[in-house]
Amino acid sequence: MPEFKLPENFETYPEARKKAFLTMKELKEQGRRIVGVFCTFTPWELILAADAVAVVLCGIGDDNIPAAEVRLPKNLCPLIKASYGAAVTDKCPFFYFSDMVLAETTCDGKKKMYELMGELKHCHIMQLPPGRYGKGALEFWKQEVISVKEDLEQFYGITITEQKIRDAIHLRNRERKAVLDFFEVARLKPSPITGYEIMTVISSNEFSPDLEEKIAYLEKRTAELKNLYEREYKGKPSRPRILITGCPVTGVMDKVIKRIEEMGADVVGYENCCGPREKKDPIDETKDPITAIAEKYLRVNCSVMSPNPGRLEALGTQIDEYQVDGVVEVLLQACHTFAIESDAVKTFVTREKNIPYLALTTDYSTADQGQIDTRLNAFVEMLQ
Ligand code: SF4
Ligand code: SF4
Repeated sequence: MPEFKLPENFETYPEARKKAFLTMKELKEQGRRIVGVFCTFTPWELILAADAVAVVLCGIGDDNIPAAEVRLPKNLCPLIKASYGAAVTDKCPFFYFSDMVLAETTCDGKKKMYELMGELKHCHIMQLPPGRYGKGALEFWKQEVISVKEDLEQFYGITITEQKIRDAIHLRNRERKAVLDFFEVARLKPSPITGYEIMTVISSNEFSPDLEEKIAYLEKRTAELKNLYEREYKGKPSRPRILITGCPVTGVMDKVIKRIEEMGADVVGYENCCGPREKKDPIDETKDPITAIAEKYLRVNCSVMSPNPGRLEALGTQIDEYQVDGVVEVLLQACHTFAIESDAVKTFVTREKNIPYLALTTDYSTADQGQIDTRLNAFVEMLQ
């Protein structure tokens, strides 16, 4: 049975992040425009159309959390505290080099944190409608997309042409396809790639300012992995296959994903905003580009949307397509929207898909590693 092993010259996420600091510094020195972003709802296409580079500002690690807790409540999601803490202490080079921030009113914690972040830097906050089905939701959101374009134009003193937006949509759709194909390598059984590598590559690639380079890397690695499967994995027994759902997991990759795989199971898929959620849904290139962008991002199945039936549909499809044996839901502490949805997720997974489910609530500290290991161990053993 294949063991947990990483490719030679594997670059961890913190290493890739550190390297990207230097890249951002160089880009800044070259006079490039840099826009900081957070969520899957962000219309990156408009940032690209403004000839700017988008950089993800989501915080990882608990180093900057005490500084954040000076103004934010302790009982708040670690992602929000880590992001604000890194910005307010000036310890995040990505925030430091960003000219402005483009964010959305997703969960309550995030939207109120952005008000504080706005004291540090120009933050354009898109008002997200609370659900995609409400009357007028699309028209409202379309106006928000237009206001991003106008703010970028005013902020940088530029004009964003329709052709620039169309080109950016086309490039991002190509990138989506490359990312999706890479994720889907893990549909092979047994999977020739660890879930830890998948998440590391996907998260690290968010720092790549050159999308062509990113697409080329993903296409090459996908082809290598398919060859590896034919040569070494095909026909061999598979370890238990686990799907991760819930909150973003970049900040708990070592604590959860790596541990599951060291214990003897494979993480084969992600149903969260780090996974193929929005990659499966390209932007319609035949429509008016602003309308197409608004429609696409309003379809994101994040738990901040109400109601959110698309998430269970997507989860069911992924469980089938990736031949999943068990689901682990990662809940970041004090994330109310995912915590409340977890009840429906558990019922769906255990009663409709008839496979085991485990929910883990955690944060960015290492204090609960022992407890998490105990619960994961029992879960993996049960699947074996
Ligand atoms: S889970 Fe939703 S709110 Fe949280 S980072 Fe992802 S898209 Fe944004
Ligand atoms: S994990 Fe939950 S609480 Fe944290 S930013 Fe995302 S939606 Fe908000």
